[in-house]
Amino acid sequence: MYKSEYLNRVLDEIKAKHGEQKEFISAVEEFFDSMDYVVDKDPRIEKYSILERIVEPERTVCFIVPWVDDNGKIRVNTGYRVQFNSAIGPYKGGMRFDKSVNLSILKFLGFEQTFKNSLTGLPMGGGKGGADFDPRGKSDGEVMRFCQSLMTELFRHIGPNTDVPAGDLGVGAREIGYMFGYYKKLRDEWSGTFTGKNFSYGGSLARPEATGYGLLYFVEEMLKTYKNTTIEGKKVIISGSGKVGGMAAEKLNQLGGVLVGMSDIEGFVYDPKGLDVPYIVAKSKQKGMFSKDYAKDHNIEWHEGPHGMWGFAKCEIALPCATQGEIHEEDAKLLKQNGCYMLVEGANMPCDVEAIRYFNENGVLFAPGKASNAGGVAVSGLEMSQNSLHLSWTFEEVDARLKQIMKDIFKKCHETAVKYGQPNNLALGANIAGFEKVLDAMLAQGVC
Ligand code: GLU
Repeated sequence: MYKSEYLNRVLDEIKAKHGEQKEFISAVEEFFDSMDYVVDKDPRIEKYSILERIVEPERTVCFIVPWVDDNGKIRVNTGYRVQFNSAIGPYKGGMRFDKSVNLSILKFLGFEQTFKNSLTGLPMGGGKGGADFDPRGKSDGEVMRFCQSLMTELFRHIGPNTDVPAGDLGVGAREIGYMFGYYKKLRDEWSGTFTGKNFSYGGSLARPEATGYGLLYFVEEMLKTYKNTTIEGKKVIISGSGKVGGMAAEKLNQLGGVLVGMSDIEGFVYDPKGLDVPYIVAKSKQKGMFSKDYAKDHNIEWHEGPHGMWGFAKCEIALPCATQGEIHEEDAKLLKQNGCYMLVEGANMPCDVEAIRYFNENGVLFAPGKASNAGGVAVSGLEMSQNSLHLSWTFEEVDARLKQIMKDIFKKCHETAVKYGQPNNLALGANIAGFEKVLDAMLAQGVC
C-alpha cells in the first residue's frame, strides 16, 4: 500500500491487466516506492496520467523465429522487442538470448532501462528485446542462422533513429555481428543501428569493459562520499564470470581492491588472501566456467552452486554481476553478518525487493543496477555518437568519458536522495532522478 491513492490505483490496474508478469510487476512496485515521495508534490504527474503512460510499453513486437539446426531439424523460438519509452531519445537497450526470456522479464528490463538511460545524461529512450534461445552449446552456424531468421522480422522495427539494440545475457560480439550483418543486407544501408559491434566495423573501444569498469567507478564514488576512503585493500566478492563480472574483477584489481570470492554458474571459490585475478579474467574472456579449474589449479576448495557464496564469504563489498533474483532477504542478512557494508548491483535487479529493504533498514549501503551498471549503455551511447560523427575515439578518451558519466550518475542519485531526506537511499535517488528527465520530456511533447 502506498500513501498516494493515485499509485495504489495505477498498480491495481496494472495487476488486473498483467498480474501474471511477476518480474515486471515487481519492478513497477519497487519504482512506485520512490514515486510515493513525488506524486503528491507534483500534481502534473497524475493530471497528465504520466504513470499510466510510463508503465505501458509504447510498442511490443513478438514473433516466430524458425531456424534449421546442424542436423537439418527445424527449430522454433519466440523473438521480442519491447519499445518502452522514446521520450528522451530512440529506444535503446540490449537483446537477451536465454531460455528464461519471456515478456515479463523483457518488460521489467525495458522499464528499468528507461530510467537507467535517462541517468546517463545521453539522449536514449528505453527498450529491450531477445528470444528464448540459448546460444550455449550451439555451433557458430546455428547461432548465425538463428540471428538471421530473427533479423528478417526485427529489421523493420529498428534503425539508428528509431531503436538501437545491443548485447545482454547470451548476446555478445558474435551475435551482434550476425544480426548487424543481416540488418545491413536487408536494409541495404550501413548505419549505427547496433552497439557493442566489433571495433573493425564501427564498435567503440572500451565498450566490452564498460559495464564492469563503470561499476567500479561508481563504487569508488560511493566509498569516497559515504566512507571517505578508496577501494584499495577492500575485500570484495563478485558473482558471475561473464562480461560484467570479469571486467569488474579486472578493474578492481587495477585499483588495488582484493577479490576474495567469485562465482560462475557452476559454483564458487573463496580465498581470504585474494584470488588470482588475471587467471579469472582470462577464463572469463574465453566465456568458459572458471571456478572448478581454479580450485584445482590453485589447490583450494571448490564450492558447488553459486548461491552459497553470499552466506559463506567474508567481505566488505559485494558486487552481484550474474542475473536477476540472485539475492533474497536471507542472503542479505548473511552478507551483513559476514561484514558486508556495501552492495552495488552489476546485474539488472539481482536483489529482490525484500533484500533491498533489508539493506536500507540495516545500514548496508545499496546501489541499484539502473545507476551502478549504466556504464555499458553509456558507452553504447558514445558508440552511437562516434558512428554518427564517423569517428573513433581512443580507449583513453572513451574510458575518461565513462568515468565522468559514472561520477555524474552517482552525484545525481546522491543529491536527489539528500533532497528527499534519505542521503543513503540511492535506489530512491536513482528512481526519482531518472524519472524527472523523462517526465519533463513527456510533458513537453503532449499526449503522444
Ligand atoms: N544490456 C545492457 C544493459 O542492461 C546494455 C544495453 C545497451 O548497451 O544498449 O544496460
